[in-house]
Amino acid sequence: MNKIADINQIRSLFPALEQSVNSKTLVYLDNGATSQKPKQVIDLVNRMNSGVNGNIHRAVHELSSQTTELYEDSREAVRQFINAAQKEEIIFTSGTTASINLVAASYGGKYLRKGDSVLVSEAEHHSNIVPWQLICESKEANLRVLPVDENGNWRMDMLDNLLDSSVKIVSVSHVSNVLGLINPVEELISRAHAKGIPVMVDGAQSIVHIETDVRKLDCDFYAFSGHKLYGPTGTGVLYGKREILDSIPPWMGGGDMVGTVTFEKTTYAPLPLKFEAGTPNFIGAAAMLEAIRFVESIDKKFLENSERSIVEYMIEELLKIEGLRLYGVGESRISLFSFTVNGAHPSDLAMIMDKMGVALRSGQMCAEPLMKRYGVESMLRASFAAYNTIDEAEYFIASLKRAIKMLS
Ligand code: PMP
Repeated sequence: MNKIADINQIRSLFPALEQSVNSKTLVYLDNGATSQKPKQVIDLVNRMNSGVNGNIHRAVHELSSQTTELYEDSREAVRQFINAAQKEEIIFTSGTTASINLVAASYGGKYLRKGDSVLVSEAEHHSNIVPWQLICESKEANLRVLPVDENGNWRMDMLDNLLDSSVKIVSVSHVSNVLGLINPVEELISRAHAKGIPVMVDGAQSIVHIETDVRKLDCDFYAFSGHKLYGPTGTGVLYGKREILDSIPPWMGGGDMVGTVTFEKTTYAPLPLKFEAGTPNFIGAAAMLEAIRFVESIDKKFLENSERSIVEYMIEELLKIEGLRLYGVGESRISLFSFTVNGAHPSDLAMIMDKMGVALRSGQMCAEPLMKRYGVESMLRASFAAYNTIDEAEYFIASLKRAIKMLS
């Protein structure tokens, strides 16, 4: 099948992009928070809500068989998409947050002891900090932090000292939702593995921009959210190596995750169902297959070139703006940019730009420790997806300049 290499063709698949906001054509640059959905995702969700609807894995009736098949086909599509070895290593969750909480509670619950440590980086989203704090608190273990330098790059020179024998797991983002830098996760993983320490990767931002191969990365766990990858809200994935997933207990108990239940003793279902208690968002999970098909329908070179042009243009133009500080300076990055401008509050800029039709994120970005690192209360962020154009980047820069002028 011919791959799509035309931005207008890509845009035509997204009904949300056709709307006006505040009487202006929408320029949606808050993709780091959530992406818009292509028609094929919307159509499958509608088709299932309109009738192809029966609870999965439970009944013998036709509708249940159909939804079960759609759900399990999607699991296989996810497996292929991230190149996991087995379908059993793909757990459907409600998002990255749930995936990390699952690992923190289950892996941390089993393996952390008093005095042990968990290592995260200074640039993590709250979702990759707080779940670890919760389990550390209950186990009297410590949260350790790998600092970032002034440009936002991990202090790899400090890694070996931090990775002492007390560290039982490392959990870091592949790409920070603030800095946009592609972190050297492969190097970190190999250095942690050399000391026998497993690594969880938060792929919430990277999955959309970087081809992900969990076997090549050799990560032990990998988490991402479906809604940032053109899929429905309330969907996500936890990948885990089978031997580790087999060794840790279920996180939540309920229907579908059991072998047999008696009041004396319950046995658990094999993977992946052991970690999928209760009725999941099976329609959303099934529609992730369509999101993946959409991503795979786009020509990879086209996408890479388009993102590179946007990155080059944005960096060049942002740095020309007086008083602007860009956070995250490094060799390889995705098209996500966070910055502050002297004398202009990020929320004021975001509000003015919203009136111009530009949707941006402002605030602490769910990364309060990183804000503190840079001594700021908040930032403004523009994050691009496959359907964003260089024209939109130009409109963004022009609007930003106008907004700054209005506040000065
Ligand atoms: N980690 C990172 C790096 C993120 O960007 C996000 C979402 N902004 C999350 C975790 C949490 O994802 P979700 O809210 O979809 O669970």
